[in-house]
Amino acid sequence: MPELPEVEIYARYFARHALRQRIARVRVLDERILGAVRKEVFARALRGRAFTRVRRHGKHLFADAGGTWLHLHFGMTGDLGYYRDDPPRFARVVFDFDNGAHLAFEDMRLFGVADTIDDPDAFIRLHALGPDPLDLRLAEFRRLIAKRRGATKSLLMSQDVIAGIGNLYADETLFQSAIAPRRPVDRLTSAEIRTIFTTMRKILLTVIERHERGDDHPPRYLIHHREEGARCPRCGGTIVKSVVFGRTTYSCTRHQT
Ligand SMILES: [Zn+2]
Repeated sequence: MPELPEVEIYARYFARHALRQRIARVRVLDERILGAVRKEVFARALRGRAFTRVRRHGKHLFADAGGTWLHLHFGMTGDLGYYRDDPPRFARVVFDFDNGAHLAFEDMRLFGVADTIDDPDAFIRLHALGPDPLDLRLAEFRRLIAKRRGATKSLLMSQDVIAGIGNLYADETLFQSAIAPRRPVDRLTSAEIRTIFTTMRKILLTVIERHERGDDHPPRYLIHHREEGARCPRCGGTIVKSVVFGRTTYSCTRHQT
């Protein structure tokens, strides 16, 4: 399921391949991928224009088409494919460019959304999205979580607090910060808050950088050990499965407290 690092990679891919080419035609192959916008309105809003820049906020991607923006959310299985001949199997929307190339937004399971919006900043306010962790400073992070309650994992996943962290990177951040997922936020020490903040950003930046090179997550990351009873790659303890914030959670019983 795409979280911030994966969407950042899509944003870079989009920017590398699909900018400054006139959109000759917009094909909506499956209307279920569209948000509130109707097919004809969506196509008319983008046809004849060109994408000039890409923005990402949390798990949302926005592409400027001059006065109107394409908004993409990748749901569980969203992906982009820039191609000349063979369209991706689950293409739901395709932009045909003047130069004969195409950009497909593909999504097998259809939990993603393609939409047009007027202004990403207004969208971010309307959906009450918190700041993006890569734009965040420690002092602001402290302010955001002050007076909050509940499990630390829930807080990291709340898009209105910070935008872009999902189940996998919330678990990874807590695993590497040695904090138990259920630890109440108001019981974190000042030093632990700093550790969570720096660890979260380091993980996100590391994964983006490795994805760019075509590398997988580092071997000692929890993501490779998400299995009940697995051996903790950090301390040799036992990985357990639980449910936090309604989501399957993996953590180490020994080093996460
Ligand atoms: Zn451990």
